[in-house]
Amino acid sequence: MAKEKISEIAYLKSVGPKRAEAFEKLGFHKITDLFNVYPRDYLFNTKIDKLSQYIDKNVVICAEIMDKQMPRRPNHPTRLLVSDGTGRLAVLIWGNAFYREKQFLVGNKYLFWGKVGFNNFEGIVQFDLRDHKKYEAGDDELLKYPYIPIYILSQELKKTWIRPLILTKIIFNAIRKCSSDIHENLSPEIRDENGLLEHKKALLRLHFPINLEDVEMSRQTLAFEELFYLQLIMALKKRKVENQETGIVFEKTGVRVEKLFHELLAFELTDAQKRVIREIRADMKKPKPMNRLLQGDVGSGKTIVAVFAMLVAIENGYQCAFMCPTEILAEQHYKVLKSYFDKLDVNVVQLVGGQKKKMREQILQDIRLGKANVIVGTHALIQEGVEFKNLGFIVIDEQHKFGVMQRARLREKSSQNGLNPDVLVMTATPIPRTLSLTVYGDLDVSVIDELPKNRKEIKTVIRRESNREDVYSFVRDEVKKRRQVYIVYPIIDESEKLDLKSAKANYEILKKDVFPDLRLGLVHGRLFWYEIDDTIEDFKNGKLDILVTTTVIEVGIDIPNASLMIIEEAQRFGLSQLHQLRGRVGRGTEQSYCILLADRLDDTSRLRLDTMVETTDGFKISNVDLQIRGPGEFFGTRQSGELKFTAADLIKDAQLLDKARHSAFKLIDEDTQLRKPEHECIREHFFKVYKDSLGLIDVG
Ligand code: ADP
Ligand code: MG
Repeated sequence: MAKEKISEIAYLKSVGPKRAEAFEKLGFHKITDLFNVYPRDYLFNTKIDKLSQYIDKNVVICAEIMDKQMPRRPNHPTRLLVSDGTGRLAVLIWGNAFYREKQFLVGNKYLFWGKVGFNNFEGIVQFDLRDHKKYEAGDDELLKYPYIPIYILSQELKKTWIRPLILTKIIFNAIRKCSSDIHENLSPEIRDENGLLEHKKALLRLHFPINLEDVEMSRQTLAFEELFYLQLIMALKKRKVENQETGIVFEKTGVRVEKLFHELLAFELTDAQKRVIREIRADMKKPKPMNRLLQGDVGSGKTIVAVFAMLVAIENGYQCAFMCPTEILAEQHYKVLKSYFDKLDVNVVQLVGGQKKKMREQILQDIRLGKANVIVGTHALIQEGVEFKNLGFIVIDEQHKFGVMQRARLREKSSQNGLNPDVLVMTATPIPRTLSLTVYGDLDVSVIDELPKNRKEIKTVIRRESNREDVYSFVRDEVKKRRQVYIVYPIIDESEKLDLKSAKANYEILKKDVFPDLRLGLVHGRLFWYEIDDTIEDFKNGKLDILVTTTVIEVGIDIPNASLMIIEEAQRFGLSQLHQLRGRVGRGTEQSYCILLADRLDDTSRLRLDTMVETTDGFKISNVDLQIRGPGEFFGTRQSGELKFTAADLIKDAQLLDKARHSAFKLIDEDTQLRKPEHECIREHFFKVYKDSLGLIDVG
């Protein structure tokens, strides 16, 4: 392998090419990058005569070895007798003693990190060695600080035989060497308003605090900075859309909207639905493009809101695109939308894979000529460059299934013929506010925080394998009442993992042995979407009693008569996924049930299932999920890149995020281009560090 250019880190004392390579792999290329490795803990720096004040604490002492005593019996420690001028001490080395004692020479000085204990038997303090480092002249500088930081050693670094105190010294040297390269990245005004430290001070104090209160204060400053810059991106993106792009003014509401609400709707809108409809209507009247996120738990009734908005756009002479994450959902929504729009003389077409060429061409032509008013499809709709006559409104349903990057791309492609359509993004993952500001911070947000009144709370229980017979007889009871049942399995094929129940295999068993008298259907991800759709249609039309399925039905499917969901191996599913699945029942007026079949629960799976039993509130559930999984995982790998913070903690720092957002938006409103001299340092830092993110979010 050709030798890569060695990074400047290699030339720091105690580093060298091997360790530099490890740092490189971890994303640390420059010496200043090392400042962003934050301490995981601090050791008290003290003297031997003070040790009794640090019982149970981790400390560092610097002392000379006077003598060594090998263990007298197996399982006894090696003892290093040391002195630091204030007293004498036996440093105990447990385990692997023979090997380790060789590293210590009588007459030499070392830094010893140890845990202080009290030996009741002998009535003296005990010092169990954790790590050590040979003393060098430069260590005096480090030992001036009352706390010695230690850092997380990743697997990559461990491979280079680096030890904690060595890493401490490397980072200490890096900071000393390059502290003049630490630049401020906030204006004094923003710092003062938010009670923050100077960046350099915060960084130095985080690594080498004078007292431990400094640590949290410093962390908050650094966390604020991270959040601030992310919100700055959001602010730029949002203001750019608002200021530079002209949108469509959807002047009138129109007679067909009246007809929809007064003649076609079989139910009364909830207050929350009415509120978000007002919010959307207000946006649509404005001469700038709408970019609104509609959040609403599963079953809260988002579709009708979208129908309203699209109808307004159509009344004003524009076309609408309705995009779904999968073709099955596109098909399902196509039917729902058609059921409304057919009665309103609106022409709905569907563009999905598997359509005959001739038919597809006809549809494309209708879209081009404006004969099609509403086009339903997957995101391929926009990506494949379908030509619209005058696309004015875009709905993106179940946004959480798309990913943030895709959303950015969708918007890029959506403007056609100089028109910037209004965009309504809908999501059923009710994400905590901190996350929604982070991921969707450039959007305006509407929330449907209320379910239709006719709903009964879904009853959820955990059952074990031993209850299986009871569960089956419950299925029979429900079917007798002419209700329908979902049975959900984790994966489809026996071969994928032997111990998992597979939908296919169990479908056969259920059909033959358990419910030979009932009508069963099977859907899973290895079928073509139209095969799945046929079966779902049969289920919807009451031709099937039980639908055996995998998570292909996780989102969007709306069959109000289904009142029982059984989730097999429920411990294998994520919490948000369980919530989405459960959302397939409880959509009608009947009492609905969700049975979580699970054995072998560990602590987190128990917490997940207990949460499901306790609440049906999507926001509560997503908060627990966020705490279990952390923000990166929460969104899946596709989206986690944007959520990597070093200092900030999206669970803890909600208030800090609000402040950072406020400051960022204020700044952009006052000085959009960041041209004022006092904002020079922000501008510089922004372009240095966040330039790549700019491409991603299309700030221009
Ligand atoms: P989601 O928000 O999960 O997309 P849907 O829009 O599919 O929810 O609505 C779920 C079900 O509730 C549909 O059958 C819909 O017709 C019905 N629905 C929507 N709004 C109301 C309401 N205000 N009252 C009663 N039922 C409603
Ligand atoms: Mg929906």
